[in-house]
Amino acid sequence: MRLADAYAGEGYSGREVLVVEAAKVGGGRSRSFHDKVTGREIDNGQHLLMGCYYETLAFLRSIDAPIDEAIHFQRDLALTMVKPGGKTIDLACPALPAPLHLAAGLLRMRGLGLLHRASALRAGVMLRGEIERPDDGETCDAWLRRLDQTQAVRAAFWEPLIWAVLNDDPLVASAAMLVAVLERAFMSTRDASRLGVPKRPLSDIYVGPAVDYIRSQGGEVRFASPARSLDLDADGKIAGVTLKSGEQLEADTVITAVPPHALLAMLPEAATEHLVFRDVARLEASPIVNLWATLDRPILGPLDRDFVGLVASPLHWLWDRDRITGEGSKDTNLLSVTISGARATVHDHPEALREVFVQELERFFPGHGASVRSFRVVKEKRATISHAAGTYRRRPPTRSPIPGLLLAGDWVRTGIPATIESAVQSGHDAASIALGLR
Ligand SMILES: Cc1cc2nc3c(=O)[nH]c(=O)nc-3n(C[C@H](O)[C@H](O)[C@H](O)COP(=O)(O)OP(=O)(O)OC[C@H]3O[C@@H](n4cnc5c(N)ncnc54)[C@H](O)[C@@H]3O)c2cc1C
Repeated sequence: MRLADAYAGEGYSGREVLVVEAAKVGGGRSRSFHDKVTGREIDNGQHLLMGCYYETLAFLRSIDAPIDEAIHFQRDLALTMVKPGGKTIDLACPALPAPLHLAAGLLRMRGLGLLHRASALRAGVMLRGEIERPDDGETCDAWLRRLDQTQAVRAAFWEPLIWAVLNDDPLVASAAMLVAVLERAFMSTRDASRLGVPKRPLSDIYVGPAVDYIRSQGGEVRFASPARSLDLDADGKIAGVTLKSGEQLEADTVITAVPPHALLAMLPEAATEHLVFRDVARLEASPIVNLWATLDRPILGPLDRDFVGLVASPLHWLWDRDRITGEGSKDTNLLSVTISGARATVHDHPEALREVFVQELERFFPGHGASVRSFRVVKEKRATISHAAGTYRRRPPTRSPIPGLLLAGDWVRTGIPATIESAVQSGHDAASIALGLR
């Protein structure tokens, strides 16, 4: 049996599947909820997909998620960065085969001098093997220096990209992880680099269809059922899970898909000394702060964009949620703001963040005239693991040192940064092993 057959209704090879989830609702770090301040169903943060999220798209198709109605995919990669004062830098990749589409897009980038565009293009050419690949110890900053990238092209292209895909500061983030994304996104097909923006709440896309699918195949999903410990038999093999309620569940295979700190809390004392788990304990977290503001008029309307990046601002990306979802009314506009790798802001008071928001809007869109009607801050202190240089080797493989225990979650060793795609790939890897397909 192939994994695709398990999805296609062949069942789980006679395995009984039981999912226990600590929270009352599903979704984890990709969830939505009704927010009293904005009066809307909002996400815990803006979640983008890329055309190269192959595992995710296959997963969504298998569980019959409403991909076409719920996710807007660009026809070709296009990005707009706004500079203080309101001028823009526009990258629009034409319909050429990869990587020519990117080369042409970079060369024609509007708002950036030729010298800087040529420097970005040179990096693209070198990426194809003319320079030594970075190892996990090299930072993005060092790698960009090695590629002679100008300050302007770093600020307008590389740094926003690095904050977005690695959720970390280019000064510390791993260049190897960045290159893993660049290769997938830009070196395969033109479609791979397109961005997909969810139009509907994340729970409608990922959670509802996944739960329905598991139940339709005879599996069980239990919410509000936190696991307390992993149980081993006398030979040190997995024997089951004990829930916080005290209930014991027997199992010959357990797949954990919890974040690192939650896994460590569940391990038997002796196992925490194993090198693999000692490395897990050394993984650090990187936060994301999302701001949700209701304005009395759209800010991005005049630019005719669903979202823009801000050059060298503490606020990285602005999303016109009403334009994206087609909701909203004549005199309100819901704007979402992403602050990635938000170590500098995650402890700030919402009032201080509101002040920064208002100041930055004025700096980038002078004279915009919009007033803030409501303001909401969503802080995710452990949004992803940190992808600081040297981290990758600490991410554990799917097969753990405990027989019968398989590790999943965006942070395990998938070859790519901790993203939805990594989470889904890790799940597929673990399921394949559990079903004896690998
Ligand atoms: C604000 C924000 C923006 C992001 N933006 C993007 C983006 O644009 N694109 C992208 O690809 N990725 C993005 N990500 C990353 C993405 O959300 C994660 O990679 C993904 O959700 C990880 O999924 P996961 O299943 O591995 O972990 P989680 O979503 O963390 O799921 C783990 C689950 O385990 C449960 N759990 C924990 N402890 C226990 C226990 N003891 N017993 C039972 N259950 C337990 C939790 O409740 C949770 O539901 C973003 C993340 C955040 C926070």
